[in-house]
Amino acid sequence: MSRRLFIAGNWKMNLDCAGAVGLAKGLVEQIGSVVEVDLAVAPPMVYAAAVGEAIKGSRSALAAQNMFYEDNGAFTGEVSGAMLKDVGCTHAILGHSERRHVIGETDEMVNRKVVKALGDGLKVILCVGELLDQREADKTADVVTTQVRVGLEGVSAGAMSDVTIAYEPVWAIGTGKTAMPEEAQEVHAMIRGLLGDMYGVEASQATVIQYGGSVKPSNAGELLGQPDIDGALVGGAALKATDFVGIVQAGIGIRK
Ligand code: PEP
Repeated sequence: MSRRLFIAGNWKMNLDCAGAVGLAKGLVEQIGSVVEVDLAVAPPMVYAAAVGEAIKGSRSALAAQNMFYEDNGAFTGEVSGAMLKDVGCTHAILGHSERRHVIGETDEMVNRKVVKALGDGLKVILCVGELLDQREADKTADVVTTQVRVGLEGVSAGAMSDVTIAYEPVWAIGTGKTAMPEEAQEVHAMIRGLLGDMYGVEASQATVIQYGGSVKPSNAGELLGQPDIDGALVGGAALKATDFVGIVQAGIGIRK
């Protein structure tokens, strides 16, 4: 089964409106008509509409960095799936480690968001990954298994075609430390096996599993060359068009 490469840029809480639009335009220019890879960018929510306008007609989808699991009402500061779609988002990144560990989202909250986003017609990038002390205590498989199982509770095999899993070891995010390609591959294979138990071989083989954690042009080829690594969720390096495009090119090169 050959899965399409999927590279997504998470711009986090960076840039101003002009900077976000400029980055989007730079990406569109440099990416051109590349067709071998699926792409998405996730700008800060307040700039989503402007960035959506800048990438209109390009190869890149627009993603949100988060969403809430209710439609509307007294949820100050939150944004619904319908609102995301209204400004052109097709994807939502859910359960990012910064939302889990800085904001305090639980597996159950992430699950409610995943189910709601899929119900609203959004594609989901579900982030999972262990903390450094959990890896050192040999708990990676347990932690990631729980995050995947609980995160996907109530999601059918049919709906899995709209789900991407992003394995992001928390100790590798924004730290410059990258998991060794074989280390990452081991967890990706474990996740694919788990998805096989949950949904059957066909769905598990079709599911795109991205790696995230200090991915840059210089390490992207080795990571994306692993059999169960189907793409990347990129933070820091997504803030420079040339670096993001370098990662995309490295992925295309290794797949050839
Ligand atoms: C991320 O934010 O999902 C991420 C992987 O960040 P970085 O690439 O900066 O480690």
